[in-house]
Amino acid sequence: MIDRILVTGGAGFLGSHICERLVEEGHDVICLDNFFTSQKTNVAHLLGRPNFELIRHDITLPIHLEVDKIYNMACPAAPGHYQYNPIKTIKTSVLGSINMLGIAKRCGARILQASTSEVYGDPEEHPQTESYRGNVNPIGIRACYDEGKRVAETLFMDYHRSNNVDTRIVRIFNTYGPRMHPYDGRVVSNFIRQALAGEDISLFGDGTQTRSFCYRDDLVEVIIRMMNQDEFVGPVNIGNPDEFTIRELAEKVIAISGSSSKLTFAPLPADDPTRRRPDISLAKDKLGWEPGIKLDAGLKQTIDWFKTINLDDYRPPTP
Ligand code: NAD
Ligand code: UDP
Repeated sequence: MIDRILVTGGAGFLGSHICERLVEEGHDVICLDNFFTSQKTNVAHLLGRPNFELIRHDITLPIHLEVDKIYNMACPAAPGHYQYNPIKTIKTSVLGSINMLGIAKRCGARILQASTSEVYGDPEEHPQTESYRGNVNPIGIRACYDEGKRVAETLFMDYHRSNNVDTRIVRIFNTYGPRMHPYDGRVVSNFIRQALAGEDISLFGDGTQTRSFCYRDDLVEVIIRMMNQDEFVGPVNIGNPDEFTIRELAEKVIAISGSSSKLTFAPLPADDPTRRRPDISLAKDKLGWEPGIKLDAGLKQTIDWFKTINLDDYRPPTP
């Protein structure tokens, strides 16, 4: 069946890949974005397609659209991006979710929320299961993102329970791959840029903190699977459970890119989670999914893409 599908944040890293996949499947795709952290070039190749349209709009403001499905991906995802204007970040998660849930309610559309592993904060349970309630500092510098996403989850569940809206929630763990913003300040993009330029690799803290990195193809696949099944609302953890220290990541990036960069150490940012790894049993059980792309292979693809782009085409986020 052909659906009319709205992808908010559709010009971003993950959103643009979702748009691409849905356009290929023949759906009518509306990509909505305010281009806060993305460029039109991410979706330029789709502009000529008859089943693709692009709207510049900010989801904190209402919009009237008729759709069958909504992927609510709009929100800055990298700490440097979401801390640039923290109040705007909260508004995007809270007012943006209310506006999109309103469309879903009026149209009877199914709506999926891109939530995050950050709802677990600096977790005291390891690995993190969906039943873990998290350890978030509500007044810290990451709270605009973490608490905004937590309220968004609450809104999704309340619209589901009170108004029977057909909701889905995915909790996305660190994801990387081609088309990620090279200046998002996140660890994968920083290390690759630094390695390719032969600059020092900036380890924050002593590099023993861990993350689990999922390649974008694995993630896009499970997001679409979650949207298209009828049984299960979520939330569900999606990510790659292979856990690495940040130092191990740096060493892999240096080795795969053949760089001569050296490691340097800078202070750890406030509230930086010490460990993060998803328990993906629920995704395996309910969606028959697990990631297939190992970190070395994904990093190789990503490094190859970084070699093809002109860094001058990318700018820091603008208000
Ligand atoms: P991204 O920054 O590349 O994409 C976000 C997109 O949303 C951008 O195109 C941006 O311009 C747009 N946007 C931001 N605020 C908006 C607003 N108010 N109105 C309209 N558009 C707006 O980031 P991404 O990595 O593609 O993340 C997509 C979603 O997935 C986000 O909701 C993010 O929180 C979530 N997520 C991503 C990761 C990850 O590792 N990439 C991890 C957890 C959760
Ligand atoms: N990090 C680092 N060097 C960098 C950027 C990040 O050591 O240049 C660390 C950061 O302190 C954190 C981890 O890498 O412990 C992942 O950071 P990122 O900003 O990519 O995402 P997070 O998972 O913290 O949201």
